[in-house]
Amino acid sequence: MTLHIPFDNSYQHLPEVFHSPAAPAPFSARRLLAVNRELAEELRLPFGGYDENRLAGTFSGVEPPPGAAMLAQAYAGHQFGNFVPTLGDGRAVLLGEVMDRYGRRRDIHLKGAGRTSFSRSGDGLCPLGPALREYLVSEAMHALGVPTTRALALVLTDATAWREQPKPAAVIARVAASHVRVGTFQYVAARGDDDNVRRLADYVIQRHYPALAESDTPYRDLLAEIADRQARLITDWMRFGFIHGVMNTDNMAVSGETIDFGPCAFMDEFRADARFSFIDQHGRYAYANQPSLALWNLSRLAEAILPLLDADQDRAVAIAQDVLAGFMPDFEARWRKAMAAKIGLAETQEDDAALVQSLLEAMQQNRVDFTLMFRRLCDAVADPAANDGPRALFENDADWTAWEARWRRRLQAEAMNPGERARRMRAVNPAVIPRNHWIEKAIRAAEDADDFSVFERLRGPLIRPFEDTPDNADLVQPPAPAERVTQTFCGT
Ligand code: AMP
Ligand code: MG
Repeated sequence: MTLHIPFDNSYQHLPEVFHSPAAPAPFSARRLLAVNRELAEELRLPFGGYDENRLAGTFSGVEPPPGAAMLAQAYAGHQFGNFVPTLGDGRAVLLGEVMDRYGRRRDIHLKGAGRTSFSRSGDGLCPLGPALREYLVSEAMHALGVPTTRALALVLTDATAWREQPKPAAVIARVAASHVRVGTFQYVAARGDDDNVRRLADYVIQRHYPALAESDTPYRDLLAEIADRQARLITDWMRFGFIHGVMNTDNMAVSGETIDFGPCAFMDEFRADARFSFIDQHGRYAYANQPSLALWNLSRLAEAILPLLDADQDRAVAIAQDVLAGFMPDFEARWRKAMAAKIGLAETQEDDAALVQSLLEAMQQNRVDFTLMFRRLCDAVADPAANDGPRALFENDADWTAWEARWRRRLQAEAMNPGERARRMRAVNPAVIPRNHWIEKAIRAAEDADDFSVFERLRGPLIRPFEDTPDNADLVQPPAPAERVTQTFCGT
């Protein structure tokens, strides 16, 4: 019996330039490694009564169900600043769209489902390791409250991805509000196809920003809304120490979700210039560069939709500049608020930015673990005797003592019961994040020994990031020197 999915496909009705048909995956689905039943229910997918083989066939793209879209999406993109006019889904297929329980349209996308017309010299495969990382990290991001694509299923195939070494190939079924990227706009704009730029903009408005349909300046507002969601997204990444790693314009979704988890990482020790991606040699996408690179990408989006902003090019440029001038102030305001909450403040005052900045500088100098520091601050707020927790993270005690005095003075300006303050702080400062060394352990065991026990072990605690429990005590700790991961790979 074939799995019945109530598809409601819309993207395939865009003109042909935006997509090309994709064949079913040319390998066998060996094993269903994971399925996200809670997400399946949200998507109203009728999984009950289907066995694992059937689900593996469906979510690897080997046996597309009736009504599936099975297409590869076209897009262009600036990769590390260089424009590539044709990229597209070279190793991913849109299985189709469904309306979820809340009436939201969601894409089901299969990454690693074989070659498409956009594969160029690539094999269309995704090694198991990066698929595993995406599964764990995207679900952890969601649990942290960060807009992100989700992981619906993970299937091991019988194909081999030949990288530096042969790797087992997997397919990750992921779910997104849509996969329209800044690069999708660039694809038609680069071809001088203004009609299709407008069609795409109208599609995005209808799908993601329906309120703008009533606006007198819908395209200007579209740019402003996308910029606003990016400001929120980058704030969310940074308040948890996340580094995307490949913020190319083809990896920026116009929905404002985190997309295309490649060589991403959560940092352990705080460093403003932290980066892990082995392809990011010059640190273009380092931690603290993320806001300005998001703005850079938004400027490329503005260029692509320029003809929609005004028929007069100078006026169009002025409109775009005016909108994008709001991005950095928007980001800064969100960042100040987020960081104030992390150190226990309900209101933000003028001097708080300096207080936060001095903490981050002290943390960098003392190689303090980002996540553990803020979690221990929660204890220190509840009980001044718990000061030893944060102090122990500093190489130089005096740096902590100096900052602590300023911090406690500032806290006194806001009357709040310490227990209540600690409770609020624990809701924004996670205990458990997907630390690189744990992800690496899960990958090594799976790729080298077909052992999924670490992956299984991580799944539960990572989706309850704000809970401290005895069984996650080792997940909360930073890596020992020998466990430290300095580079991450995307497996392209
Ligand atoms: P990514 O680095 O995953 O964002 O991919 C950048 C571009 O390369 C996209 O167009 C991908 O579809 C394509 N690509 C990456 N890996 C492969 C692969 N193994 N086979 C075919 N295309 C790929
Ligand atoms: Mg990509």
